[in-house]
Amino acid sequence: MSNMKVRFAPSPTGPFHIGGARSALFNWLLARKEEGQFVLRIEDTDLARSTRESEENIKAALKWLGMDWDEGIDVGGHNGPYRQTERLDIYQEITDRLIAEDKAYYCYCSQEELDEVRQAQMDKGETPKYNGHCQHLTAEQKAQYEAEGRKPTVRLRVPLNKTYAFDDMVRGHVSFDSNGVGDFVIVKSDGIPVYNYGVVVDDHTMGITHVIRAEEHLSNTPRQMAIYEALGWDIPVFGHISLILGKDYKKMSKRHGATSVDQYRQLGYLPDALVNFLALLGWAPEGEQELFSQEELIQQFSMDRVAKNPAVFDIDKLNWINFNY
Ligand code: GLU
Ligand code: ZN
Repeated sequence: MSNMKVRFAPSPTGPFHIGGARSALFNWLLARKEEGQFVLRIEDTDLARSTRESEENIKAALKWLGMDWDEGIDVGGHNGPYRQTERLDIYQEITDRLIAEDKAYYCYCSQEELDEVRQAQMDKGETPKYNGHCQHLTAEQKAQYEAEGRKPTVRLRVPLNKTYAFDDMVRGHVSFDSNGVGDFVIVKSDGIPVYNYGVVVDDHTMGITHVIRAEEHLSNTPRQMAIYEALGWDIPVFGHISLILGKDYKKMSKRHGATSVDQYRQLGYLPDALVNFLALLGWAPEGEQELFSQEELIQQFSMDRVAKNPAVFDIDKLNWINFNY
């Protein structure tokens, strides 16, 4: 067994898309190849949009595709993966520490006040960014806001003039300038962590070594790095995999046909054929082989052969694989 630990962290907010299944697959293949561990974590902090139905659907789809997960089978007395809403105490403890160390602070600005500042900045042609209003509130000011019944958010202090740089397994060297980031909210006024914060606390506390996820999260990475830095934690290895496009090179959407795993299941595709097809969406095997058993995929998969450029979803290829499987 190696110490490699990866995770798939879906938000249970709707149908389980092909793109999510491909992210899960790349993580799973890597974990199985390296004899590491594959963690399933349900990111259900969007309380309005998350449903148990969607979570069950994701688990059923993963099982159908043959992707088993290693941890979280029996957490909190139920048979399920990790759920962020069951980890609020963990986030709270770390937030208390950040506040005590003055790495984060309470922000009492109302949405209207923030919107006003934002508008004024945009009118001046500036990129909107938190203006630092609550960075140094006195105890009296805080008491006053509390008395007004304002519920604070928690913001991270983000240093200026820093470069956040890392070597991405897919994209190579990536760097961001901290000046564009600004102090951002890590915990909402209802006590729920925002995505960037929950993800960092979880990835660290779960011992995740490699984070493979969709390219759309690349722009979140500098914020996540600011959180890692404030907590004195090492960053994991990142790998941001490209978008999946339709044959017209536009982002995959309903216009291109079926987009969810369930739809392909209902259409009668073989799960192993779909896995074979998904693996080839971005990963290029060494030889000419196109049909792979799951065991062959596990043996041959490697992140070095995952392409930087977008993957194109070609239904004819899926049909060919499904027919010949
Ligand atoms: N919950 C996020 C999503 O579904 C996870 C992103 C990540 O892997 O960090 O997009
Ligand atoms: Zn504020």
